[in-house]
Amino acid sequence: VQEKRYDISDRLKLIDQQTLQLFKKAGALAEELEYNLYIVGGFVRDLLLGKANLDLDLVVEGDGIEFARRLNKELKGELDIYHEFGTAVLTLEDGMKLDVATTRVEYYSGIASLPEVELGCIQQDLFRRDFSINALAIQLNGHSFGQLVDYFNGREDLEQGVIRLLHNFSLYDDPTRIFRGLRFASRYGFKFEPRTKELIKQAVDLDVIEKLSNNRLFSKLQLGLQDKYPIKFINLLQEENILSYISPDIRWNEEKEKLATKVVDVLEWLKTLNLSFKFNEWVLYLMVLIWGMNHEQIKEFNQKFNLNKNLSYRLFFTLSFDSLSSRLKAAEDNSEIYYLLEGFAIEDLLLLLIKDFTLKDKVKLYLEELRWIDIKVSGEDIIDFGYKPGPFFQDALQAVKKAKLDGKIVNYQQEQRYLRDYIEKRGE
Ligand code: ATP
Repeated sequence: VQEKRYDISDRLKLIDQQTLQLFKKAGALAEELEYNLYIVGGFVRDLLLGKANLDLDLVVEGDGIEFARRLNKELKGELDIYHEFGTAVLTLEDGMKLDVATTRVEYYSGIASLPEVELGCIQQDLFRRDFSINALAIQLNGHSFGQLVDYFNGREDLEQGVIRLLHNFSLYDDPTRIFRGLRFASRYGFKFEPRTKELIKQAVDLDVIEKLSNNRLFSKLQLGLQDKYPIKFINLLQEENILSYISPDIRWNEEKEKLATKVVDVLEWLKTLNLSFKFNEWVLYLMVLIWGMNHEQIKEFNQKFNLNKNLSYRLFFTLSFDSLSSRLKAAEDNSEIYYLLEGFAIEDLLLLLIKDFTLKDKVKLYLEELRWIDIKVSGEDIIDFGYKPGPFFQDALQAVKKAKLDGKIVNYQQEQRYLRDYIEKRGE
């Protein structure tokens, strides 16, 4: 393996001043301790692609923990040390985080097993990584500040938009790399280098994905769905015959892909409403992905991945979709709309619109107005009218709420009058 070095200090100087100063300080300290210091991984990849990346992974040829301690003394941040991994995380006052590790080698003894780790040099540390585009380092020492260190042709692969594994056993050592590869391919629009493509096919055909625990499998799916281009990611899962490992009941076709492209439109629309919601966009893609499964299949899916209640409900919602949609279409009164939609999560409502955007005005009415409508009268008022508490209290209050939703009454006085009339008419 031949080491190539390129001076990219000019490029490095274009990053934000704060990070640059930090690199300079760290580089000077490395000089003092006579360690070689590098920034590696995603930061380097994204720098060369002209994209920002806030994950700072430093590796030192030397004692990483000692280095982190000394650096922290200068920067006065907070230091968490993980002795068993020989790594440390340094958190600065402004929230910036630095991962510091000692360069190391990994040995895998079985498929998808945990590696044994030993100290190694930078070349070995880069060789244990997944793809050539992630196996680049930039040296930060004063004398070679800004030198790109490239052993595996990562720089050219980045320029060509190519994803290349570093060796033939890589996917057996760690099958999650398949998912990482698909994620980078979808995110950057990169292609797999032909040999890498073949290695992926072989590994998938040999069922390496079954070596992953269901928990890990789901978290890799989730990462892909949370990445920049989830649909592209799903398409790649399909192309590489991986969907069936997630569930044999998933059907992915043009129709569903089209549906998934509507997610973005609906989210844009949601922004115009100026409401603040906490919800997870990736869940919408998951809902579309599993759409079409029956009750039994969804149940199995939820159990397999041990999904929490909230997420399970969202997946089950895909079953009620059709009936809710047609009932909502027929609904005329505000109260009807309210009682149909009450209790559904925002993801459910968005899914309704993904399938049928003509329902948007009703969903908007619900989200912006109906949802917040409450009545001021209570059981106390009924007691004040001279009645003893009974089951009719609830009916009566519900009737008031319905009238309020439909705009027949507006203020407290009207609510009281409506409540009294209602009870008297019912002859309680
Ligand atoms: P992202 O932009 O998605 O965060 P990243 O490359 O920064 O991508 P990290 O998970 O932060 O991803 O990993 C940092 C670096 O560690 C990677 O660039 C890669 O060099 C290495 N790495 C991470 N996961 C693996 C893996 N499963 N196998 C080999 N190397 C890995």
